[in-house]
Amino acid sequence: MTKVHRVEGRVMPVNAYLVESDAGVVLVDGMLTVSDAQRVRDAITAIGKPLQAAIVTHAHPDHYAGLATILGDRAVPIHATPAVRAAIERDDAVKNAIVGPMMKDEWPARRVFPDADVAPGTTLRVAGVPFDVIDVGPAESPADSLYRISEREWFVGDLVYARMHAYLADGFASQWLAALDRLERELPRDALLYVGHGEPGDRALIAAQRRYVEVFAESVARHRDEPRDQRRAAVVADMKRHLPTDDLLFLMELSVDPFAG
Ligand SMILES: [Zn+2]
Repeated sequence: MTKVHRVEGRVMPVNAYLVESDAGVVLVDGMLTVSDAQRVRDAITAIGKPLQAAIVTHAHPDHYAGLATILGDRAVPIHATPAVRAAIERDDAVKNAIVGPMMKDEWPARRVFPDADVAPGTTLRVAGVPFDVIDVGPAESPADSLYRISEREWFVGDLVYARMHAYLADGFASQWLAALDRLERELPRDALLYVGHGEPGDRALIAAQRRYVEVFAESVARHRDEPRDQRRAAVVADMKRHLPTDDLLFLMELSVDPFAG
């Protein structure tokens, strides 16, 4: 029997998942901050089974920066597709310069990267659990991937958020929309999506994510020629009307200037 535990960050609402089988535990994604990573570490201890591997879904620091804290001196492989690993290796210095000062003491000074490639189209078996590896290419981040552990259960990384604002600064919105179309075609009717942010949910989340990306792109286009601060405020107001929550609002706000450029 497989059981999936979700740990949600408190400093930032991002999910790490612990997939528990009879044989052990597999971590999917690694949190952003030191204290949230420690909460994942405590959750692994509470399950009381050996951690056998970690998997990173995509190349954003809120999904890998906490890994060193979670893993400590446990020598477990950190799996990712070659594209995800390469994007993390390439971009970490820039993320360190930008996110480090934002998070201060909560930013993990020591970070570890994926070190065990998994080939897209294959199945990774860890702790007796089959993880089908699916490459997405650039979408929400410069490199995204999916993992399926049964017909129904999909780890979708940040391709789909659940009722939270989204990060669109990487500039791959059209690829993201195409990836959402593909997800909608390929996921079964009763699919359960383990999302990167928010509560796991059903296929309806895919359409909501598509609409969110479209509304954001339309809003930025409409306000493109306004002065920066005014444009940013206008887009934030549009998006708050579209999705009335403050969850991850800062990520969307950070995305307006890069997206307009
Ligand atoms: Zn992301």
